[in-house]
Amino acid sequence: MQPVFANGYTGRESTELAFTDPLTGLGNHRRFYDKVERLISDRADDPAPFAIGILDLDGFKPINDLFGSRAGDDILVQVAMRLRASMDAHSTVTRIGADEFAFLYPLVFSEDAATDKARMLIEILSAPYDVGERTARLSASVGCSLYHFGDETTNILIHKAETALYQAKRSGRGRVVVYTREMEEAAKRVTRIEQALRRAVSAGEVEPHFQPIVDLKTRRTVGFETLARWTDRDLGPISPVVFIPIAEERGIIGPMSQLVLRKATEAARDWPQDLFLSFNLSPSQLVDQNTGLHILAILDRTGFDPRRLEIEITETGLMSDPTSAEKIVEDLRRCGIRVSLDDFGTGQSSLGRLREFHFDKLKIDRAFIASLLDDRPSEHIIRAILAMCEGLGMDVVAEGIEEEEQAERLVQFGCGGGQGYLFGRPANADATLGYLRDSFRGAQRARAV
Ligand code: C2E
Ligand code: MG
Ligand code: MG
Repeated sequence: MQPVFANGYTGRESTELAFTDPLTGLGNHRRFYDKVERLISDRADDPAPFAIGILDLDGFKPINDLFGSRAGDDILVQVAMRLRASMDAHSTVTRIGADEFAFLYPLVFSEDAATDKARMLIEILSAPYDVGERTARLSASVGCSLYHFGDETTNILIHKAETALYQAKRSGRGRVVVYTREMEEAAKRVTRIEQALRRAVSAGEVEPHFQPIVDLKTRRTVGFETLARWTDRDLGPISPVVFIPIAEERGIIGPMSQLVLRKATEAARDWPQDLFLSFNLSPSQLVDQNTGLHILAILDRTGFDPRRLEIEITETGLMSDPTSAEKIVEDLRRCGIRVSLDDFGTGQSSLGRLREFHFDKLKIDRAFIASLLDDRPSEHIIRAILAMCEGLGMDVVAEGIEEEEQAERLVQFGCGGGQGYLFGRPANADATLGYLRDSFRGAQRARAV
């Protein structure tokens, strides 16, 4: 007979509970670990590989916030049911975290087969979910790793799947990534950059550079975009394309951004007062309700007029939590700060956003400008964007102008603002001051002639 415990369960029931996720009835992380461990020991005399995968729902948190945690639980149960139904007799799916599921495929022997299986799961999860009267949609990312005879422990195998999942998440939604050794190297480099960046931010070593934005017709500089620059003592110069996403992921973006904004506004204070300063905000800053307060506190401290500041945000930044983003944007606009939509035309564009949010300015992504001269579709798209901005009362800046002919064509189309190497590369505070003095003298000379 099974012994009965104080909680009224028999030994076997108690063990079963310890291995079960109470919400979905699937096995939990212990069950998963146990199953993988057993399979590894079974395979001790059998050289066949097998695959494991970890699946993470994309954007589950906003759905939970929007529909409420009851509905969130409901969706998780539906996800679990779909996953369970898609497993064959040999395979197992478990729930190992809030919105994380792990599966084990004993009869999947190759990376391609693992990718196919994972893609199928993502597909199955992409159909709409019933939430009361409404429906919700979800996507998922999956990281897989393959067990090869004898060279791995359960911990290593799971760690590899987690590394692959991390890569999948970084590269966007709905992706499948199978672990490779290079990935481990990449993950180590990210950690090295993260640590160096933390140190640099505390030591105040990230610097603002400034790139001119001009009135395309007169070529007069009307403002500057702030672009963060960082050179590490050991790692050398690191591009913002690399360190900004790492700062975002690892929670350093807030302090980094405050440091750069403080230095930038201190520098821009001494410029002619009619020049504006624009500053990029990352998606995660639009989820943090303190962002607005931090910006205003810095402007207050440095004595920079909020009406001279523009904030650049991307459509991706509005996606993850539109309600939060809208509140931050409205708070900033109330203080006189203008808001631009950056990199328009790439990423998760949706014209609907332009109806919901009011932007003062739109920046056309440089991909369209780069192909403007030899690609008819780009020309049509640019003209359509310009017509739309006129109708909506938004200013426009074309990004990435490198050639005179591009600038001329854009003027013909009626584009007001421009930015790009043709007018000036990003430069540090001293060089920018020099640039402003030169252009002031140039303007004086022109008037004298
Ligand atoms: P962005 O906001 O779209 O900035 C424009 C990027 O285009 C800059 O790259 C700039 O150097 C580059 N660019 C400007 N003119 C030209 C041109 O004529 N040709 C070409 N090929 N490129 C041009 P950068 O400085 O590497 O910055 C990349 C991105 O990193 C920025 O894109 C922005 O999204 C982000 N970023 C930079 N600084 C900050 C920051 O302080 N905070 C945040 N949150 N993001 C930042
Ligand atoms: Mg920008
Ligand atoms: Mg841009």
